[in-house]
Amino acid sequence: MTEAALDSALFWFRRDLRADDNAGLGAALAAARRVWCAFVFDRAILDRLPSRADRRVEFIHESLLALDRRLAAAGGGVVVCHADAREAIPSLARSLGVQAVFANHDYEPEAIARDQAVADALAAEGIGFETRKDQVVFERREVLTGGGTVFGVFTPYRNAWLKKLDESGARELAEVPFSPAPAQLQPPPPGALRPDTLPLEAMGFEQTNLTELGIPAGEEGARTLLDAFLPRIDRYHERRDFPAVKGPSYLSVHLRFGTVPLRRLVRLARERAAASEGARVWLSELVWRDFYFMILSQHPHVVGGAWKRVYDRLAFEDDPALFAAWCEARTGYPIVDAAMRQLHRTGYMHNRLRMIVASFLVKDLLVDWRRGERHFADHLNDFDLAANNGGWQWAASTGCDAQPYFRIFNPVSQSQRFDPDGKFIRRYLPELDKVPVKYIHAPWTMPALEQRMAGCTIGSDYPAPVVDHAVQRVRALAMFKAATTDA
Ligand SMILES: Cc1cc2nc3c(=O)[nH]c(=O)nc-3n(C[C@H](O)[C@H](O)[C@H](O)COP(=O)(O)OP(=O)(O)OC[C@H]3O[C@@H](n4cnc5c(N)ncnc54)[C@H](O)[C@@H]3O)c2cc1C
Repeated sequence: MTEAALDSALFWFRRDLRADDNAGLGAALAAARRVWCAFVFDRAILDRLPSRADRRVEFIHESLLALDRRLAAAGGGVVVCHADAREAIPSLARSLGVQAVFANHDYEPEAIARDQAVADALAAEGIGFETRKDQVVFERREVLTGGGTVFGVFTPYRNAWLKKLDESGARELAEVPFSPAPAQLQPPPPGALRPDTLPLEAMGFEQTNLTELGIPAGEEGARTLLDAFLPRIDRYHERRDFPAVKGPSYLSVHLRFGTVPLRRLVRLARERAAASEGARVWLSELVWRDFYFMILSQHPHVVGGAWKRVYDRLAFEDDPALFAAWCEARTGYPIVDAAMRQLHRTGYMHNRLRMIVASFLVKDLLVDWRRGERHFADHLNDFDLAANNGGWQWAASTGCDAQPYFRIFNPVSQSQRFDPDGKFIRRYLPELDKVPVKYIHAPWTMPALEQRMAGCTIGSDYPAPVVDHAVQRVRALAMFKAATTDA
């Protein structure tokens, strides 16, 4: 298909809810004289969500309201529908009479199957389906080892990623301008729904505490967070591990839904990297994101299975009572319980805490990592299959670049190190507010008199620990050893 040769096209927004620097939208605008835009609240995804009060659905809806306003200012708008995308997109394309549908690449197995089904349905009617790389800097097999294979370890991957970007003159980061010609963007056709005429309630969803939490949606929300983060970026490396401190960017939900272009973040980090260790470390985190997208696309067996297949043999105990205690923030280990409360109240969990609670679930409670992965998938605002699966498999030592399984996080010493005064713990566990710092990380060691003085009796005001870390550590090691020695 020759660029600028089409009369009309449809751009299908998915996890790229922005006008700025959007590769697929830019390609549609370059290819067609008239462009419509659409988003599908895909019932194949939404009907499976466990709760009707889901911050992500509200975040998407808020972001679409903003996007619709932005496109309307240029003569266009966003057509929305609540349907199965496999049917809705071909049907919309047909009714608009477009010659092609444009979108951005997706890497999740279900999304790949959906896109194939859409492409086939469109092809049957002579309509093209064109996709562009947008969510990552390098995708699939673009970064390879010297031997031409995909990397399984992060650090050499990152080095090769950085080198490839430098060698290309950072071509991959070139901004895709949003500059539609007059009358190029088409308003939604009469009768079509727009974000303001398809409220959450009409799809069976409810408002959540998103606004109350101050999580700003849309492109403007992402800009606000980025503007707040840039003055902190130089200290990122020193502060990012302390959950009580405003260290990270909190941009993950925006990266998840594409309300910020990754290319912009990488450009900003690179510009500062020579003079700022914080910027270098942050850039490295963005590369982790690409790494896990690559792993998912090249090793789709990680969905549901261990990356290192030998660990599919792990004989987890999977005690439902222990899993429930973890989910319900009553393990008796304050750092774990505070982190789980942060997850449920806000949909966010600090990265250090994600590592601690994941390790605790697998190596202290001996529960299958897939249960924890599912729980995070249900509750994280930034839930992303690639990063979540990668994070869980890393913590469970079943993944790539895994720490050897015998390095097991001690939840008490992690707590002492990363929340030394218990500031984060007290924020989410007010029942421990008066517990002296000396006992805040392991309150069960508090003598009875101190418990009375702190107004916190262990076993009634706050749970006794559900397991003994020292004992469970030995059992976890035996479980891992058995999986590898029987192999
Ligand atoms: C068990 C576990 C599960 C996780 N699940 C998810 C998930 O579902 N979605 C998700 O986006 N991240 C996930 N992470 C990675 C990380 O915890 C979050 O990206 C980070 O906490 C988001 O906060 P931030 O935006 O303030 O991060 P910042 O520290 O500001 O980092 C900037 C961006 O880099 C990316 N990033 C940072 N760390 C990682 C990482 N380890 N892996 C991949 N990308 C990273 C994210 O896009 C993040 O927004 C998980 C980590 C673990 C250990």
